[in-house]
Amino acid sequence: MSGGTDSSGAGNAALTRRWQGALMDNFGTPRLPLVRGRGTRVWDAEGVAYLDFVGGIAVNALGHAHPSVVRAVGEQIASLGHVSNLFIAEPTVRLAERLLRLAGREGRVYFSNSGAEANEAAFKIGRLTGRPHMVAAAGGFHGRTMGALALTGQPAKQHPFRPLPGQVTHVPYGDTEALRAAVTEDTALVVLEPVQGENGVIVPPPGYLRAAREITAATGTLLVLDEIQTGVGRTGHWFAAAAEGVEADVVTLAKGLGGGLPIGATLAFGPAATLLTPGTHGSTFGGNPVVCAAALAVLDTIEQAGLLEAVTRAGARLRQGLGVPAHPLVREVRGAGLLLGVVLEGEVAGRVQRAAQDRGLLVNAVAPDVIRLAPPLTVTDAELDTFVGGFRAALSETLEEALTTA
Ligand code: PLP
Repeated sequence: MSGGTDSSGAGNAALTRRWQGALMDNFGTPRLPLVRGRGTRVWDAEGVAYLDFVGGIAVNALGHAHPSVVRAVGEQIASLGHVSNLFIAEPTVRLAERLLRLAGREGRVYFSNSGAEANEAAFKIGRLTGRPHMVAAAGGFHGRTMGALALTGQPAKQHPFRPLPGQVTHVPYGDTEALRAAVTEDTALVVLEPVQGENGVIVPPPGYLRAAREITAATGTLLVLDEIQTGVGRTGHWFAAAAEGVEADVVTLAKGLGGGLPIGATLAFGPAATLLTPGTHGSTFGGNPVVCAAALAVLDTIEQAGLLEAVTRAGARLRQGLGVPAHPLVREVRGAGLLLGVVLEGEVAGRVQRAAQDRGLLVNAVAPDVIRLAPPLTVTDAELDTFVGGFRAALSETLEEALTTA
């Protein structure tokens, strides 16, 4: 890793100091300033290149500076940049129609600016059923705003902000019987991620989402699937739950949908689609035409370039490369498509992340013993192979270091 100083104030160390002086410390200091990106590659403030397998945390579906997104944004901002929710912009309507077509069902869409907001809208839809109770999964992550935080099943993130709204019961993820026991006719909604991304890329047992659908249908409870991390092709499907044939009442999207621009989308079907009525919810920027044009470019490119199939192939190649031959530091590679968690033998993810970065590879230590990989859906075979070689070397270096210091 490069860490030189630069009197112009734009080198890695100088930018880091400026960040520390000007930004609130809610994230802790980020590990590296980045100044430029192209496809799967990014460059830091001193011109060092990295293969980016973080992808803005599963956001950059088409990588950096994809020509289709650049063109769509440029054309839209040059013609109509913002209209507010007092007027109609055509790209907003087109994106809503397109998302409903991809879902293959009749429904309605509410647009916002982030994943948390997409889930806030789902929370409000739940409230409008008149039922007081909600169920979510322990370890689940649904965002940091107060409603989304109430659904997030991570007590340390909730603790300083209690009391949180709503009566939310958290049940163990993947445990069908615990879910069945928690859901009653007072339960407005059950919210689940098809794969728990922030909790360490945890895949539930087969049939769990289908069981959740049956349990919620029996009590008239809304099933909300948070596809903010798993949707828009990340797992090789437009919606990860589609792989199990599960149709939710509400689906939330964000991250990959905007191709790097901020967007949230709450898709609702059946009676849930008409619970928000005039005056009940809103956002100044939600449905902004520039952001919607970018999202349309993302969806067009995924379709035209056959990226759903490409993701399935790339994910299999990455798994194979990381698993064969078995590396002594790797316990398991789990996940779906291009959302993978490399589970390590021991809490050394931070060390592996640093060793990888020193070799020009950006990865995310999502848990003390898990590295999350979420490269662009456009990642090439050559990039995957370069990554696997460098990452295995980073694993070996970490293992040697651990053995010599043990
Ligand atoms: N839901 C899931 C499954 C997520 O992974 C995230 C973010 O990581 C969110 C919600 C919150 O999204 P945002 O950070 O855009 O508010």
